[in-house]
Amino acid sequence: MSNLRCIRCASLWPPGDYPEGCPSCLAAGHPATLECLYTAAPHDLAIPLPVLAPVTLGEGATPTLDAADLARAEGVGQLWIKCESANPTGSHKDRMSAQLVSRARLAGATRVAAASSGNAGVSLAAYCAAAGLQADIAITRNCPPLQRDAMERFGARLRAFEDSLGRWPYVQDLCRNHGAFAGTNYLNPPVGTHPYGVEGYKPIAQEILDDCGLPTDIIVPTARGDLLWGIYLGWQHLHQTGRIDRLPRLHAVEPYARLSRALATGDARGQWESATEQYSIAGGTCTLQALEALARSGGAPVETSDAQAGDARQRLERMGLGAELSSAAALAAVSRLRLAGKLDAESSVVLILTSDGRRG
Ligand SMILES: [Zn+2]
Repeated sequence: MSNLRCIRCASLWPPGDYPEGCPSCLAAGHPATLECLYTAAPHDLAIPLPVLAPVTLGEGATPTLDAADLARAEGVGQLWIKCESANPTGSHKDRMSAQLVSRARLAGATRVAAASSGNAGVSLAAYCAAAGLQADIAITRNCPPLQRDAMERFGARLRAFEDSLGRWPYVQDLCRNHGAFAGTNYLNPPVGTHPYGVEGYKPIAQEILDDCGLPTDIIVPTARGDLLWGIYLGWQHLHQTGRIDRLPRLHAVEPYARLSRALATGDARGQWESATEQYSIAGGTCTLQALEALARSGGAPVETSDAQAGDARQRLERMGLGAELSSAAALAAVSRLRLAGKLDAESSVVLILTSDGRRG
């Protein structure tokens, strides 16, 4: 790796740990993600990652299912389901945890602190156990009991808070004052997770290209946008190295309007809290990296109600596919995008099934 570059002000920073994103933009009140830059030989087409020999539990290389019946029913040309639920702890988060926890260990940290009541917490707890690090996870009181139980079995220390935003000051204190390595955002307004962790999502782009060719559209359940941005970075690499001649559009599924409101004002820092059962993509905030992934790929935000996501989950279950509500929302989004004229019979679409909800 040669440098990190701010996605907002383009300033360059030496390789290292920036859990709060670009220091200049943070000081100006605009938390902004840093992007990893690499020096690679021109013939080197492999997707570069920050940690070359990470702690692993077997994450990645997940299956992509060709869902021809769904494609016909939805009126699109092709439809695939990328089963991130096949990762070791049941969600895409394992790809990020492998890179992030490995970086924490290389940086000499002995503990990782994170705010998560769900998939990220379970995944970080498991990878910390594999790496011999302590995990400190701030959860909310409504954390599903099976998620909580899994974190504890993997040896994590838990602290429960009344509401989601209350967790961030606790994690911030552990990271700023007690030597913990940041496993999630802790700022408000938020920034993307540690860039080395988010890099772990890039191989998803390569795997989709290998399995499906170059799709026109990819639909990604989104909260703070780590997965959306990481997949974008993967396609950006494939584009810059001449493997593809255009980017697929990345669409962000959310339970209520956050990104569309942020896009309207050009400012990601708003607070748009609302109730939803789509637990893994809940919360009132969004991030600049999510806006950038949409803008740079030409994609759009899509809102899906709990009822629409519930219907989509039933359809997936009848095909034998378990999906948490937040993941099934990606299928619900296909109809919405079709109605909005953004998908048609020529579209080739990949849904990211982020988690099977086995502990929901
Ligand atoms: Zn900046």
